Amino acid sequence: MTVTVRFAPSPTGLIHIGNARTALLNALFARRQGGTFVLRFDDTDLERSRRDYADAIEVDLAWLGIPPDRTIRQSERLAIYEETAAWLRAEHRLYACYETADELERRRRIQLARGQPPVYDRAALALSDEDRARLEAEGRRPHWRFRLESRRVEWDDLVRGPSHVETASLSDPVLVREDGSYLYTLPSVADDIEVGITHVIRGEDHVTNTAVQIQLFEALNGQVPTFGHHNLLTTASGEGLSKRSGALSLRSLREAGLEPMAVNALAVLVGSAEAVRPVARLDELAGLVDLAHISRAPAQFHEADLETLNARLLHGMPWDEARPRLEALGIGGGEPFWLAVRGNLARFDDVRLWWGIVEGPVEPVIQDSALAAAAAGLLPEPPWSTETWRDWTGEVRARTGQKGRTLFQPLRLALTGLDHGPELASLLPLIGPERARRRLSGETA
Ligand code: GLU
Repeated sequence: MTVTVRFAPSPTGLIHIGNARTALLNALFARRQGGTFVLRFDDTDLERSRRDYADAIEVDLAWLGIPPDRTIRQSERLAIYEETAAWLRAEHRLYACYETADELERRRRIQLARGQPPVYDRAALALSDEDRARLEAEGRRPHWRFRLESRRVEWDDLVRGPSHVETASLSDPVLVREDGSYLYTLPSVADDIEVGITHVIRGEDHVTNTAVQIQLFEALNGQVPTFGHHNLLTTASGEGLSKRSGALSLRSLREAGLEPMAVNALAVLVGSAEAVRPVARLDELAGLVDLAHISRAPAQFHEADLETLNARLLHGMPWDEARPRLEALGIGGGEPFWLAVRGNLARFDDVRLWWGIVEGPVEPVIQDSALAAAAAGLLPEPPWSTETWRDWTGEVRARTGQKGRTLFQPLRLALTGLDHGPELASLLPLIGPERARRRLSGETA
């Protein structure tokens, strides 16, 4: 069996870090099993689905590093759903109903008042051909319900273990609306069968749907996939994330300059058995995914953790990985520059600031002109190394009698124009004798 999984967003907004969790759990599961990762756009709701959102989702997945092996759009697969609905009608599993929303609501209230569960009473099953003809002559158009078998549906959930739902407690779900459009259930199952989905990994908000879907797989003689329902991400205050609000959208995180691996690590590890920590590679992260040990409680997400993870990833980023990115920004300095500054980065883009400090022009801040002049006079001959700083400041101390902060801070301000930054032992050789001398003399260089 080749593992085939799918991430099935409806393109009705920008996807957020909670959606990324679902996408990653699928993509990394496929990666570990040598399987296929399918992106399926659930875009049968033509009013709310938008092509630009679908395009944005593809950009987001590519940014995370999990581009799909295959992309399908439900809006292009209506023939499959027509065929599926026809089959179900022929099998008497899909039946026409004519109640209006008001009628259904009235019946529901009566049931509740009588202390009965508000389950659809299947009145439409009793309609004769003449009844239906009369209703249609009145201008009513049917919506279509799937006739559930009333029983206990069981499955072994990859996350939640042995699970079951009593379908007697559910209304027969509407699969086709009055206007002929499909609700989510039928296209989803028809596609899972047609594509050969082996594992359905999704949020636990779909647990109840699973019982209905299993019955639908069976009615269609399809292979029932293995299901896994993971906990949902919430904000630190416990609120759910919404595609509609755009909060914590992957696009906004990307535009904020965050590393995709910081987002990936947090999206996957929060609310799992593993500690949230920086992980540099997707393969390594894939090795940490253990669906059986995902917590059952909602996973609370702290935005500040994203900042911390991002900084920690940058602080440990090896030169090989940074090199092409520095080249793309036109930044030189080689490995010594990268190792000098990476510990001071909150965003990768901060390298520009530090490269500007090396290359200049820097407007020096001269706090102690006597000290600066003495220091300029004591600058050693090149070549300079990371030892140069220690030797040079030793001599400046001997000559001026300044030490500690009153020695180092004025030198930093003169050499960089800033009161903080990377180790000067590493920066000084990159700044070099010419610029160092000029800056110590108060010149912009
Ligand atoms: N479009 C559904 C959603 O975004 C897909 C659910 C599923 O994976 O089956 O919730």
